[in-house]
Amino acid sequence: MAETRVIPEVDRAAAARKAVERRRARASLKRDLTMRVITPQAVLRRAIDDPDSVEGSMRITDFLLALPAIGAGKRDRVLEDLQISPVKRLGGLGARQRVVLEHWLDGRFPPLSPRGARSRLLVLAGPTAVGKGTVAAHIRENHPEIHLSVSATTRPPRPGEIDGVHYYFVDDAEFDRLIEHGELLEYAVVHNRSRYGTPRPPIDAALAEGKTVLLEIDLQGARQVRAAEPAATLIFLLPPSWDELVQRLVGRGTEGAEERARRLRTAKVELAAQNEFDHLIVNENVADAAAEVVELSSSSAR
Ligand code: 5GP
Repeated sequence: MAETRVIPEVDRAAAARKAVERRRARASLKRDLTMRVITPQAVLRRAIDDPDSVEGSMRITDFLLALPAIGAGKRDRVLEDLQISPVKRLGGLGARQRVVLEHWLDGRFPPLSPRGARSRLLVLAGPTAVGKGTVAAHIRENHPEIHLSVSATTRPPRPGEIDGVHYYFVDDAEFDRLIEHGELLEYAVVHNRSRYGTPRPPIDAALAEGKTVLLEIDLQGARQVRAAEPAATLIFLLPPSWDELVQRLVGRGTEGAEERARRLRTAKVELAAQNEFDHLIVNENVADAAAEVVELSSSSAR
């Protein structure tokens, strides 16, 4: 008599767990693509390197639909134009299909093109809660050779913050005076609340001494620096994933639900600006991200 094969309970449970994990990883990858935490080109590269990876097993239809501003109609037209069957998975694309897809992606999501000439003025920006401040603080403590700009702000100091070290805490009248006298390289209202600005004289002095200067400022400020000093090197700090960014914002526990939702909307808009920058650094952990920033500064000093 033929025996029926019974799948042991443990195997079944393990397989179910794995399937859930895989689904979660796929959903998280889609969010990263939509929120621009990862470039489509990077996902395609990983899919090709390892067809068994989450990226490799992603359907081409899901991939295209996850990209910013691509709907079902546009997706189907693109697939037709590129002559790629909608049943394909990224890891299973043929050589010609990869090339045409890559070419299409480069046209639609242009890769960064860092400026050739290096500058000693570095600007570190990125979405809210990505950890710019922590990376900057790490550099301040471990790299005294880099001049970290101290901003002026109208917001009150938090416990432990020292005037002249973390910020120059000023009132509105003093901030107005700094603007009037042209003493700010850039300034902006951040999070709809307080004003922040970069005092120009200490930067000019540090640059004149041959030092590298690092500004940790928001996106509006980074754009103003680019306009005022076109040679500045702009660095954009990315979270390892969108889910991680949400986690960091929630984990910080300093904002209420409404404010958190508002900041996440802002973060989405901010992530969309990454192509204006010269370099992207993923803040997987603070020490490594800081080392990458310092690496850019040491090569710029050459
Ligand atoms: P916080 O109040 O948490 O210290 O900083 C809030 C935000 O203000 C951060 O995103 C930080 O990058 C930004 N920021 C700090 N200093 C400046 C500055 O001088 N100019 C601009 N534009 N933004 C700044």
